[in-house]
Amino acid sequence: MLYIIFLTGVCNLNCRYCGGSIPEEVMPHEIQYSIDDLKNFVERDKEAIIAFYGGEPLLRIEKMKEIIDNVKAKKFVVQTNGFFLHKIPEEYLNRLDTILVSIDGRPEVTNYYRGNGVYEIVVDRVKKIREQYKGDLIARMAVSEESDIYSEVTHLLSLPFDHVHWQLNVVWAPDEAWHDFEAWVKNSYNPGITKLANLWIDELKLGNILGIVPFQGVIKRMLWPEQGVPCGAGRDAFAIATDGRVLACPIGGEFEWNELGTIYDKEPEALRNSVDIDEPCKSCDIYPICGGRCLFANKERLWGMEGFEQICGTVRHLVKEMQRARNVIEELIHKGVFKKEEFYYPPFNNTTEIIP
Ligand code: SF4
Ligand code: SF4
Repeated sequence: MLYIIFLTGVCNLNCRYCGGSIPEEVMPHEIQYSIDDLKNFVERDKEAIIAFYGGEPLLRIEKMKEIIDNVKAKKFVVQTNGFFLHKIPEEYLNRLDTILVSIDGRPEVTNYYRGNGVYEIVVDRVKKIREQYKGDLIARMAVSEESDIYSEVTHLLSLPFDHVHWQLNVVWAPDEAWHDFEAWVKNSYNPGITKLANLWIDELKLGNILGIVPFQGVIKRMLWPEQGVPCGAGRDAFAIATDGRVLACPIGGEFEWNELGTIYDKEPEALRNSVDIDEPCKSCDIYPICGGRCLFANKERLWGMEGFEQICGTVRHLVKEMQRARNVIEELIHKGVFKKEEFYYPPFNNTTEIIP
């Protein structure tokens, strides 16, 4: 199972859609449990994947090194804003199987949402580590009203990333984040997805699989059906707060449905399948692919039912475009251009949530 470990609640940035450090009343800024407590809990799971998270986890590189050195896990992952990547010693850098770097696309869009000059710093760090880093380097975008999905994704694919992933900045976004979500979906996002799908399919025909995670993840769920929410929250993915609480989803440490116990009183296996997705997802015709998209959004209808359905419209469009791609892929597999296994991405739960 996946364990998302908050190394700290502190962040050095203050992005528009996030608001910076996690308030102390949601969780303490620093880890309160000992490495032995964590080890006792995580090592009962022989298939553990550890993902470092925050705040900004690389503000606590020493703690990350201590956990890598002392807690056995099959894979290590970090989700970072990229500022301190160059400070990870090379031997630890390559212990990380996946590094997800937050960046929102073109310079003007990244700097608008994340702060002036952020793009330039992050790209500099990514280029610096790329020379040594052999693992999967993923650009992770938050997509908002200023984002043009086709331009942002193709821009990031031109940088030294292996993959690009994104999440829509919806549901927990503050009201002022959007002027007209419905119009943006209709006029910008959905047409952009179609254009991107066309590019992806054209490249497939040339024998290339562009590293676009939501496309790859949806195709994987079509070719290897699996149950439930793609991020695994509450099923086989859990977050460990700095105070040792176990959460189904790392977002919203303050919600009751999200609290499942603590690392002191729970066995990993007892957590499996703790929280299930609610209607309308279970009866939805595309549930086998979408999986309910996001457990948090399913539980907290912060945009009401109308907003929920508008977001579903983006999923329906994505799935429709990937059905088109699937037909091409099956033909290419049949012709021997690809092996089916080449579409098995992500190879493990690397914290990419698949459905944006
Ligand atoms: S498309 Fe909407 S209703 Fe259907 S499974 Fe996904 S989130 Fe649920
Ligand atoms: S997709 Fe939703 S439920 Fe899953 S980890 Fe992200 S916020 Fe939580």
